[in-house]
Amino acid sequence: MDASASPLVSPPAAGVAAGRGAIELRGVIKRYGDERVVDRLSLAIAPGEFFSLLGPSGSGKTTTLMMLAGFTEADEGEIRIDGQDVARTPPQRRGLGMVFQNYAVFPHMNVFDNIAFPLRARGLPRAQIDTEVARALELVQLQRHAAKYARELSGGQQQRVAIARAIVYSPPAVLMDEPLGALDKNLRYDMQAEIREIQRRLGMTVVYVTHDQEEALNMSDRIAILERGRIAQLGRPAEVYERPVNRFVAQFLGEANLVAGRVQALEAGVAQFAADDGGLRASVPAAAGWAPGQAALLFVRPEKLVLCGSGDALLHAGVRRRSFLGGVIRYELQLSGGGELKVDVANAAHALRPETGERVGVRWRGADLSLLPLDT
Ligand code: ADP
Repeated sequence: MDASASPLVSPPAAGVAAGRGAIELRGVIKRYGDERVVDRLSLAIAPGEFFSLLGPSGSGKTTTLMMLAGFTEADEGEIRIDGQDVARTPPQRRGLGMVFQNYAVFPHMNVFDNIAFPLRARGLPRAQIDTEVARALELVQLQRHAAKYARELSGGQQQRVAIARAIVYSPPAVLMDEPLGALDKNLRYDMQAEIREIQRRLGMTVVYVTHDQEEALNMSDRIAILERGRIAQLGRPAEVYERPVNRFVAQFLGEANLVAGRVQALEAGVAQFAADDGGLRASVPAAAGWAPGQAALLFVRPEKLVLCGSGDALLHAGVRRRSFLGGVIRYELQLSGGGELKVDVANAAHALRPETGERVGVRWRGADLSLLPLDT
């Protein structure tokens, strides 16, 4: 990445006062009928943080964002923006930028007028509007398209207009709800990097709603994974991916091997785990709280397992299925106890890539395994 995008060398733009954009939810509840669709949600987002709300459809992401924006009222709890309780502050006075999936640009206005809209609504002088719009156009790389009607632009360009319009008045925070959902995969990936760079350059807070795990992992400083209106886990991308706290998070964030078994013994923070079906034994780092005899799920991501010859193997298995996925080959291995393990192998010349029906060794680093509670 370009060094100028680094937050260390690129100060926040004029207008974004350092330290603005702190967002806090305390015990927020939203009910529809008898159901709590947001259930006692508490979280604190720091100024300048890129924070994602990630979860399956219906987990309460959009409802949470709408309460932050002020379009939906919380039934209980507190929402604070820069320390101020905003319960009685209408959306337009919360000063937050907003970007939605369906662009919501004005098709009959040209690009310049679309972006100038919030500045005109605020009654800014013309010269300042020209300066601010030029700056926003440059940020989203639409300088050459200022005179075009929004409807003449591609989906990706329209989304840039929406982003420029959301940031043009230097809001302390921008709320984004699946902003890339309508774009095709390659464009989405490029736009992820662009949004992240703009966010860093401006030093603004972003609260980002998505159901796309890779998008959240790629873009965020921190992610809250929502399940039925509650936070299942909150942490940095590598943390939630590598160290999920339960089955739901492990499976929602990607492929996961979860083997049911028991802690046989425990010494110096390392558990001896044995699968119930007898097909797997492993030494696993275990935090305080685990005890011998306790039931547990062994967790390991498929790409952390390595296929090898029998000399290095911790386990032997048969190849039951081999799926060619392009960049990786996914193996389903049959273990002696009847269980199975998924192993992802890079599609590279140096990797061991056996065929269906062959026997193969498997090894791993103990640090890549962890224990999860049997069920939650
Ligand atoms: P997500 O954004 O995670 O897909 P939402 O916040 O949109 O989830 O919705 C959470 C739950 O609240 C869903 O079950 C949805 O059907 C329900 N819901 C959302 N808005 C309303 C509404 N205006 N009236 C009734 N139920 C709603």
